[in-house]
Amino acid sequence: MSSEEILKNIAKEIYNNVPNGTIITNIDFEGPEVVIYTRNPSMLVSDADLIKDLAKKLRKRVVIRPDSSIIMSEDDAIIKIKEYVPKEAEITDICFDPGISEVIIEARKPGLAIGKSGSTLREITKNVRWAPRIVRTPPISSTSVQGIRNTLHRECAERKRIMKAVGHRIYRSENVRSDWIRITALGGFREVGRSCLLLQTNESNILLDCGVNVASDDPSKAYPYLGCPEFKYILSSNELDAIIISHAHLDHSGFVPYLFKSLYDGPIYCTPPTRDLSMLLQKDFVEIAKREDKPCPYSFKEIKDAITHTIPLDYKEVRDIAPDVRLTLHNAGHILGSSITHLHVGNGLHNIAYSGDFKFSKTRLLEPANVRFPRLETLIIESTYGGSKDIQPSRDDAEKDLLSTIRRTIGRKGKVLIPVLAVGRAQELMIVLEEAMRNGSLPNVPIYLDGMIWEATAIHTAYPEYLSKAVRDQIFHHEHNPFLSKCFDNVPNSNKRKDIIEGDPAIILATSGMLIGGSSVEYFKALAYDERNTIIFVSYQAEGSMGSRVQKGWNEIPMKDENGRTQAIKVNMEINTIEGFSGHSDRNQLLRFVNRVSSGTEKVFTNHGESGKCIDLASSIYKIQQKNKIETRSPQNLETFRIY
Ligand SMILES: [Zn+2]
Ligand SMILES: [Zn+2]
Repeated sequence: MSSEEILKNIAKEIYNNVPNGTIITNIDFEGPEVVIYTRNPSMLVSDADLIKDLAKKLRKRVVIRPDSSIIMSEDDAIIKIKEYVPKEAEITDICFDPGISEVIIEARKPGLAIGKSGSTLREITKNVRWAPRIVRTPPISSTSVQGIRNTLHRECAERKRIMKAVGHRIYRSENVRSDWIRITALGGFREVGRSCLLLQTNESNILLDCGVNVASDDPSKAYPYLGCPEFKYILSSNELDAIIISHAHLDHSGFVPYLFKSLYDGPIYCTPPTRDLSMLLQKDFVEIAKREDKPCPYSFKEIKDAITHTIPLDYKEVRDIAPDVRLTLHNAGHILGSSITHLHVGNGLHNIAYSGDFKFSKTRLLEPANVRFPRLETLIIESTYGGSKDIQPSRDDAEKDLLSTIRRTIGRKGKVLIPVLAVGRAQELMIVLEEAMRNGSLPNVPIYLDGMIWEATAIHTAYPEYLSKAVRDQIFHHEHNPFLSKCFDNVPNSNKRKDIIEGDPAIILATSGMLIGGSSVEYFKALAYDERNTIIFVSYQAEGSMGSRVQKGWNEIPMKDENGRTQAIKVNMEINTIEGFSGHSDRNQLLRFVNRVSSGTEKVFTNHGESGKCIDLASSIYKIQQKNKIETRSPQNLETFRIY
């Protein structure tokens, strides 16, 4: 049966179930949803069970949208919305997404904008006809969030085309029999960087993550093996069903825009914060390449294409992404919006979880990774800290270590440089430092934030529901919002850097986290010679990165100056590594996670770790889980395994 025939049957079922008098103007697939356009949406929405029952019958998500002929012009709608919503709600922005007939109303007091039991919302729906969505005004405005809203508004026609094509591809056939499932390692196996995995069934092809190894200059090691014959064939014959991005870090998302250069026209699935943060990091990747005169595999245009092709999903939303595959994203506890990908294949046949990077313990910023899956037969798990010696100190000890190192450095009039990933570690440290300064356990020195940290933090405040309950509560009470503390000083451009370097003792959080490009390198060059200063590493340093050399204690580091000449930087500063802040699970947490999901699990594959750690983790899981008879493997890149 073709998608058109499937749609015809769905339409029949819908007409049989809606109340008499409902005027339906169109029924179509849009992404993983069946959308009903109607001239009288209130008739369908008033009966709360109607759509629920329909969705159950059709086994698909059903959405009601007002027909474009009945919605108000955007200008008139703005006037009317301002009439309906009381002034005290303090609207800060009204923007439209014509692709889905939605109006986003941003207000400082969302409760007042919604009205008593949703009365204002109902009034807007009834009279303005756009579907209203109320969001809380983020305490820090983000140019990325705004930019993405503008892109979606501008590209609404293109987006509609994409969503329709995606929908028809997802529902191209029904009752597909799954005969086999296999996975192919395309990058990030027995290494960290360029994570990429191809999942295939006899019906579908799905790509999990598509990253770059920023620590490598060699294209054969920096990018995933997308040139291998089977993937090339899938891409050129338009048979790739979906890309799923686990989280925004470039080793997972950095190569995605390249696919749009290779004429991929399908969907990307990820959480909304992953979409926004990926865009921020990808843009930075292009800018750094330009600045350093290095080739970049894509440009801003492909980053924009990636945004228009993204179908954002919140945690625990279940969606069909191919005729035989259903996707659910779960919290991974690693960075804002990071997810463990759960795939349900062939109507109960086989369930796969791809961990991405995950933290199976609570951090200041996030709740621990989800461990409850309806069913799980195959697990693909990261191994960054999978070696037998990779036990991290407790968070308490790590925080004490950090504060005493800073106090020691400030005491001798030095500066503390902490290279951080703009997303994740930076915000985690900001919370710790702000609290320490507030309660007097750190002297009052400025904390400079250089590189995209401020913008990444703004995106964090736009998605409070993705943060830990403690931080969310703090953010909603403005006076305690840790990110807005006066102790932080954003460095908007490089002009200010000279003053900071020559100035008084200070704490500097700067990107990149591994001293590969970015402002952290500039600070390192200027501060390394002075033994009063300290560099503190709080995140993973990839083999071959500048950070890894400094961490290992090289006395002299060869570096290029602004004229491109190599120059040796003498390192006299104190070098410190504090492991406990990691956003990754340590060895014990990894094993505990496997133990919790082990009932029913048949196969475990390890990836995302140095070779020895991937192998060690795989063999340890095999031994520990012997009673459960779990088959474990540590694939190499380009190896394929049949999992069903
Ligand atoms: Zn990561
Ligand atoms: Zn990673």
